Amino acid sequence: MQVPLLDLKAQYQQIKAEVRTRMDEICESQQFILGPQVALMEEAVAQYCQAPHAVGVSSGSDALIIALMAAGIGPGHRVVTTPYTFFATAGAIARVGALPVFVDVEVDTYNLDPAQFAAVMAQMSPGERETVKAVIPVHLYGQCAEMDPILETSRQYNLTVIEDAAQAIGAEYKGRRAGSMGDFGCFSFFPSKNLGAFGDGGLVTCPTQAMDQRLRLLRMHGMEPKYYHHAIGGNFRLDALQAAIVAVKLPYLDGWSQARQKNAALYRRLFQEAGLAGRIGLPVAKQNRHIYNQFVIRVPKERDALRKYLADQQIGSEVYYPVPLHRQACFAYLGYQAGDFPVSEQAAAETLALPVYPELKADQLAFVVEKIGEFLNNG
Ligand SMILES: *Cc1c(COP(=O)(O)O)cnc(C)c1O
Repeated sequence: MQVPLLDLKAQYQQIKAEVRTRMDEICESQQFILGPQVALMEEAVAQYCQAPHAVGVSSGSDALIIALMAAGIGPGHRVVTTPYTFFATAGAIARVGALPVFVDVEVDTYNLDPAQFAAVMAQMSPGERETVKAVIPVHLYGQCAEMDPILETSRQYNLTVIEDAAQAIGAEYKGRRAGSMGDFGCFSFFPSKNLGAFGDGGLVTCPTQAMDQRLRLLRMHGMEPKYYHHAIGGNFRLDALQAAIVAVKLPYLDGWSQARQKNAALYRRLFQEAGLAGRIGLPVAKQNRHIYNQFVIRVPKERDALRKYLADQQIGSEVYYPVPLHRQACFAYLGYQAGDFPVSEQAAAETLALPVYPELKADQLAFVVEKIGEFLNNG
């Protein structure tokens, strides 16, 4: 039995007719950049995310960059984030000329540790603390970071809060949606995210009309009117085809998220029943709406051997992420050492993402659990 990590073909069959119709309309209109399709999608996603405004952009990575630009962050500034995330989170900080300041994650959720964040801010010299302008909590794997204490520390030091919600569209923290709690929410429509386009795309949510306008200006090279430039932005535009696909998929998103939650619950039950729950770490769901962009287990010591064993059985899995960002070659200039963020380093060595996509069949999922049991019991 083959069990891929993700199978987008099954999802496409469900929406094919609608997508093809909308694509045909756009081809006939020959209006490809921004325009009414993007505006319609922005409105629908803003509403879904319980955010007053949303601006479609070219990718999740660019969503982070444009949010930092809109917040006025650049050379001489520092931005706090976690070292256990996709590269783009910290890459965006460096791209605008600021310095990433890493703070370790919580051992159970892999999200920014609010206590360590507060401690790092409190222990900085006043001069250094002055230069910290923002924090980017990441809602990793589809579960929101512990936002209340993060927001409290941010208010105390007057920091801009940019939520990296690329993996968490529709996730909730105490009834509040990802991307609606900070000053900006950054989303990705990369095909493997829960709401994926047919290429690159992204979106930034924000609470104020003024920031919405600022984002729109920066998205088009700071240009208003044509060929008069007020700020140095970039080409962060989203195209109509991607926006239309996102809009077609959005009404299905809650059903897909529920199917992922159902799969996660089934994994928990089957791992329990097989007596494996004590031998691997299961994801800890603390917040009230986890959307399981990934279902990530912990496998002390033999993670890589298990991954290979599963691959040999045609079961897909992935390591998100094998090298924490403070250990990446390109960030050597930041001066961090091995051992600086032990929780992230251990997570990088032990975590393994299993297939959890909505169309996954119960027998496929049971096969994954069975093979993991085989490996752990015979290995
Ligand atoms: C996917 C992702 C991004 C970047 O999104 P792209 O659309 O691929 O540029 C940023 N942050 C996190 C946490 C992500 O998972």
